Amino acid sequence: DSALFCWCRAGFEPELAAELNERAAVAGHPGYARTERNSGYVEFMVEDAAALSRALPWSKLIFARQKLVRLADLRGLPASDRIAPMLAALEAIAGSGLNVSMFGELWVEHPDSDAGKPLAGLARSFGNALRPALRKAGWLSREDDPRRPRLHVAFLAGDHAVLAMSDPHDSSPWPLGIPRLRMHPDAPSRSALKLEEALLTLLDADERERRVRDNMQAADLGAAPGGWTWVLMRNGMKVTSVDNGPLRQALLDSGRVDHLRADGFSWQPKRSLDWMVCDMVEQPVRVAERMATWFREGWCRQAIFNLKLPMKKRWEETRLCLETFEYQAHRPLIVRARQLYHDREEITVFAAPK
Ligand code: SAM
Repeated sequence: DSALFCWCRAGFEPELAAELNERAAVAGHPGYARTERNSGYVEFMVEDAAALSRALPWSKLIFARQKLVRLADLRGLPASDRIAPMLAALEAIAGSGLNVSMFGELWVEHPDSDAGKPLAGLARSFGNALRPALRKAGWLSREDDPRRPRLHVAFLAGDHAVLAMSDPHDSSPWPLGIPRLRMHPDAPSRSALKLEEALLTLLDADERERRVRDNMQAADLGAAPGGWTWVLMRNGMKVTSVDNGPLRQALLDSGRVDHLRADGFSWQPKRSLDWMVCDMVEQPVRVAERMATWFREGWCRQAIFNLKLPMKKRWEETRLCLETFEYQAHRPLIVRARQLYHDREEITVFAAPK
């Protein structure tokens, strides 16, 4: 039984399941999701998981922190020796004709959930034991090699692990799909991490160099207390920060930030800006429509904005908001959306004209 295995934010399994269901069907690989609420992962059963994986690039998935192709589901692993069954499973998979040979890296993971977090210690120590055994048996390259597929062992319980693989060029570059960003002591709010993560995941290295430059002009709608403004400023930009609430004084003292006490839904810039970012807490469809206006009118060359999700029908709302945004922008756009690790009940969107 072939399956995709995806990590997600605990509680968002139904959204990821709905997303996979819909997108797999559209891609011509219909299947069905197996999920458990708050487990932090979704398995999507499908005839050819490798083909579906190629049809659904990780970067296009909104609710998947990571995307893996499942190789084996190992239950009842004895605590005395979990290695032998894994080596045996790999032999069996190779014998079954699936194209697995040598892996370039091993990640031992666990769900980012209440039930999964206590498995972190086991994952760490087991990884240290499994790595040399895999090398000895010829399953793992001597040095990390990003040209080869990555092997994943996902512990779902002490005696239950999923073996899976990923393409390093089509998957999250972080174990568990979680970027390790540290909060800077000067950052005005934890929200700063959201924009940092967005720049890191929604843009590639080339784009960051091209699109994020010194002396660019930016607007931050719903800026207070100033985390996102601070990130833009640290990237060398000049920022107009729109919010009726107060901004951290250090931002104002920098000389690079103008604070406007105005409504982010009616304010518009005098001339076209390099960037607009928006973190206003408002109905998502209202935000999507306002963002579309910015692109339709050409007020910014690129944007990152958050859409706060409702309590129910969150996948439908996500799709509706993104469709509304693209349709009302009246021009072809690059649109990338993702529920970031630092996002809670929300998703983050990057957009720019094509
Ligand atoms: N991104 C900010 C940071 O990094 O510190 C946090 C923003 S906070 C989640 C949302 C902000 O949106 C609040 O400060 C609120 O005052 C502002 N807001 C909500 N509706 C707004 C509106 N119509 N116009 C301007 N700001 C608005």
